[in-house]
Amino acid sequence: MARLSDRVRALVQPHLADIEPYDPSFTPCRINLSANENTYPVPDGVRERVDAALASTPLNRYPDPMSHALRAEIAARHGVAPACVCVGNGGDELLYNYLLAFGGRASQLLVCPPCFSEYEFFASLAQTPVRRAGRDPRTFELDEEAVLASAHWSKLTVVTSPNNPTGGLVPLSFVERLCHVCRGLVMVDEAYIEFAGEDASAAQLLDRHPNLVVLRTLSKAFGAAGIRCGYVLAAPDVIEAFAAVRQIYSVNVLSQAAALALVESRAEFAPVVERIVAERERMFAALSADPRVKVWPSRANFLLVRMPMASRIRERLRDEYSMLVRDFSYAPGLEGCLRITVGTPEENDEVLAALSALLDEEA
Ligand code: PMP
Repeated sequence: MARLSDRVRALVQPHLADIEPYDPSFTPCRINLSANENTYPVPDGVRERVDAALASTPLNRYPDPMSHALRAEIAARHGVAPACVCVGNGGDELLYNYLLAFGGRASQLLVCPPCFSEYEFFASLAQTPVRRAGRDPRTFELDEEAVLASAHWSKLTVVTSPNNPTGGLVPLSFVERLCHVCRGLVMVDEAYIEFAGEDASAAQLLDRHPNLVVLRTLSKAFGAAGIRCGYVLAAPDVIEAFAAVRQIYSVNVLSQAAALALVESRAEFAPVVERIVAERERMFAALSADPRVKVWPSRANFLLVRMPMASRIRERLRDEYSMLVRDFSYAPGLEGCLRITVGTPEENDEVLAALSALLDEEA
């Protein structure tokens, strides 16, 4: 993305002059395993229900600002009151709203890199200083004591479980310790939690910790990244702050209708999630067997792999095989790393074969 022109740099708010927009590095291609989407189509019966819901949605009226029907269904899914739910235009909007509502110059956001880069991007938009606490550079496990020490001084904390791009879970006992030491809010970003199992979700801790915020999305397990729908679960007074800063009509009528049909059909996604988890384990075993590749265990729908010539291999996958995976080798701590979304068995076979051929050629 080009830098802003000098003329516009002089016009934008000073803290935005050097802004670097998030770049999903998207190129149209045959097999896209770069954005951690669910590469299976929505199951047939569910798709029909979504289509029927869309067809009967009037377009002439503004959306219900707080998405009451959807909010009630999400609340039922999690066994919480509707007042504990706020729906947004993807998890991204809610991450931004977290910073908009609770961040700012006098606040501070604690992140644990390597993690989702949008946290720091939204922090910069909301002029929120960022504090970083580390992970073990070999296993990427959180340095729990260091994170707790920093959380004590940070108004806002975000941890990602499973973490993007490293794949590990945050233990619930650690989330509880974080909630105890953090004087502000602790967000657990659970965009990928369905691939780890609901038992691993911090949602079950909400009753005990009024400063806990759990972020979820329909973009991954529900296979609906295109409709842009996510939500947060938190205590009602925290939800009120999310509601206060949101764009009133951010979740349009079609997205609300589709999301409601999807959440109502949640049981039908279990087989899809199971297939992705089984494929993840198959790919993990295949990649682990290659001595040129280091692969980390993952509880999400992607694998982080380290290999020689990673950036070049990623380019050749794109240009010669029309396959897209994500290059993280530029990111601190992730030298030589690519992130591969787990796709369908056919997609996975193709990417494994192409990787092996390219590693041979680049040796
Ligand atoms: N959190 C994490 C860790 C993610 O990887 C993503 C999507 N890549 C999101 C949140 C946001 O997802 P969405 O806006 O599609 O709901």
